[in-house]
Amino acid sequence: MTGLNRQRIADWLQTEAKEQTISVSGWVRTKRGNKELAFIAINDGSTIHSLQVVAELNRFSDDLLKTVQTGCSIEVHGKLVASQGSGQAVELLAEKMEVLGEADPEKFPLQKKKHSLEFLREIAHLRPRTNTFGAILRIRHALAFAIHKYFNDRHFYYVHAPILTGSDAEGAGEMFRVSVLDPANPPRKEDQSVDFSQDFFGKEANLTVSGQLEAELAALALSRVYTFGPTFRAENSNTARHLAEFWMIEPEMAFFDLNDNMDLAEDFLKYLIRYALENCADDLAFLEKRQLEEESQLKKEERSAMSLTDKLKFVVENEFERLTYTIAVSILEKSGKKFEFPVKWGIDLQSEHERYLVEKHFKKPVILTNYPKEIKAFYMKQDEDGKTVRAMDVLFPGIGEIIGGSQREESYEKLSTRIDELGIHRDSLWWYLETRQFGTVQHSGFGLGFERLVLFVTGMSNIRDVIPFPRTPKNLEF
Ligand code: ATP
Ligand code: MN
Repeated sequence: MTGLNRQRIADWLQTEAKEQTISVSGWVRTKRGNKELAFIAINDGSTIHSLQVVAELNRFSDDLLKTVQTGCSIEVHGKLVASQGSGQAVELLAEKMEVLGEADPEKFPLQKKKHSLEFLREIAHLRPRTNTFGAILRIRHALAFAIHKYFNDRHFYYVHAPILTGSDAEGAGEMFRVSVLDPANPPRKEDQSVDFSQDFFGKEANLTVSGQLEAELAALALSRVYTFGPTFRAENSNTARHLAEFWMIEPEMAFFDLNDNMDLAEDFLKYLIRYALENCADDLAFLEKRQLEEESQLKKEERSAMSLTDKLKFVVENEFERLTYTIAVSILEKSGKKFEFPVKWGIDLQSEHERYLVEKHFKKPVILTNYPKEIKAFYMKQDEDGKTVRAMDVLFPGIGEIIGGSQREESYEKLSTRIDELGIHRDSLWWYLETRQFGTVQHSGFGLGFERLVLFVTGMSNIRDVIPFPRTPKNLEF
């Protein structure tokens, strides 16, 4: 059978063996054996488990057997039988084998020994062939699917925010410029500055840092919407939690206040994690075991306090702690802990502070609200005290901020005044401001960084390992 009717290894591994003749194809993970038999593990990416092929050496030519090597692609016909060995229920007794594409064992970099994650990043074109990255990619897929399912089931509409943007005022960090001008010889104005009116769009253009502003326009017509697309930040932050290109999910809801927004964020995250626990059990079990092995070399106090699945269940089963930024700052100040960045009211909290609150103080996920307006974006709804805004950040163990959101300022006057105070070019935001002049309503939304979610669910420690081809400073291979 070919095409869609072809059964995958995942299907055969769950089939009762009745000596039926089948054919499978995939990539060889390992080959071992003795004088009479070869045991070949084949994987086709449909599951973390490989199918064991048993080949009697006298049935196959030496030339063929020599080309069956780790990394080659292969098609095998034979009988599916109950396995003699432990570790699998069924195995395939080979009758015919064909090597589809060879892999020279001298050159193929993924030989059986364990590879560091750093090395695997250098061969990102091949790392999906490892158990670890197979598991991560399947979990990433499951989470993306669950996100669409969650919103669809709750009558949110998926809107596609543009990736190219002409507004430079979204307020979320450095942007990547998009231009077709000759960098060696751009047209210049009289004052020698570059004349972007001659560029492709007739003005400066960038890659978007967020789809939020456009999502708001849609929410103020369709009531409940979300975006799910790539976003770009040119900040030079070489951390294990930042990418230059990452995917963001941004729901935006008319008639929602900050409490409704927090309820949605908590319910959404719990749903996604529960979905992974229910649908990715084999891959999670593999990653949990992997993490235990990795950490067995560390000192006891450096190991994770909880196993991966315990950590996931812990989020699903606990109510998130909700408190204001102001209270959080006083908890941090009273903690007596020496932070690298000292705490005082008004600072932007660092991941070390966020993690202290989550991991040491409350021991559960935390939602902080009502941040100082100086450290938050212009569009957040201003509190009555004139000092804080109706922001909310959801903080997770190991990661810190996983969601950032707010109730939006719906008053034209207040929004307009804030834009001027911050010296933002209002010409590039006239359309955003008009939504507050025509039928404005209370509304709220948030942004979930997709890779931060995948990072949490997989228990990996570097965000570069949860996206197929990471883009970070000085890194644009593949
Ligand atoms: P941080 O403080 O962690 O740098 P931020 O405050 O700049 O994040 P927001 O602008 O609020 O982030 O973006 C919303 C969400 O997008 C964040 O909560 C986070 O999950 C994710 N995110 C932000 N920046 C990055 C990045 N460079 N790489 C991956 N995910 C990111
Ligand atoms: Mn944020």
